[in-house]
Amino acid sequence: MGSGPDDIRAETRIETADPETTLKAVTDWFAEAGDLAALGIASFGPIELDPRSDRWGFITNTPKPGWQNTDFAGRISRALGVPVAFDTDVNAAALAEVCWGAAKGQRVSVYVTVGTGIGGGLVIDGKTHRGLSHPEMGHFRPRLDPSDAGFAGVCPIHGACLEGLASGPAIRARWGMELSALSQDHPAQEIVAGYLAQLVVTLQAMFQPGRIILGGGVMASPGLLERVRLQAIQQGGGYFRGDVREILTLPGLGDRSGLLGALALALDLSGSQSSSA
Ligand code: ZN
Repeated sequence: MGSGPDDIRAETRIETADPETTLKAVTDWFAEAGDLAALGIASFGPIELDPRSDRWGFITNTPKPGWQNTDFAGRISRALGVPVAFDTDVNAAALAEVCWGAAKGQRVSVYVTVGTGIGGGLVIDGKTHRGLSHPEMGHFRPRLDPSDAGFAGVCPIHGACLEGLASGPAIRARWGMELSALSQDHPAQEIVAGYLAQLVVTLQAMFQPGRIILGGGVMASPGLLERVRLQAIQQGGGYFRGDVREILTLPGLGDRSGLLGALALALDLSGSQSSSA
């Protein structure tokens, strides 16, 4: 079997419908592909990742209509008779960036996506990190910017968590357009960068990652990455070790980190099986 992104033989895109229709289309496509050694799933969350749980592989309380409490990984595994590795899309993206992207060779690295929502995945020594569940970095609570104090945030659960303050919908909620459409001297630029920098310095304080990769649609906004870097140095107050321009970077795999993450999960699973066999 292949060993990386250069060995991809076929690719398809299936629009998400209800679970029944979608999962049938997925298993039909893979069944036609023939013999599979392993399959990796990089899923939207929240999902159950505890292997001791009888709900392992389930999508849990998602707001996505019809997908609550859906057996995802188990169902695909049974339909195809293949072992399945299951993780969040951001954990998988973090793993792909270690294997083939901007975090290659790093022992500890983080991948954060800033888009419709905000989420982050952590890889330590080649393994994605899971605790009682997967990390929920987007729901970390930053200190509110004083010039932003009138805004309650858009997270339905927490209001002013990071996702509630700095995601695409949060930006549109107070300024009426995307960050990239606002002028470079608009106050929104520094406000959003400041919130993201708070996550960065917190991650540095907790884990000292060799790379913090910032992906997602909002990060494509001109000048944003550089603003986050400068604010992270300021906020870190000397505790930000290493070269911020090396540590804080865009994905090396562009918008394919999540997709290639599923491949990385599958390769990891088939490797660990053959080594333990
Ligand atoms: Zn939240």
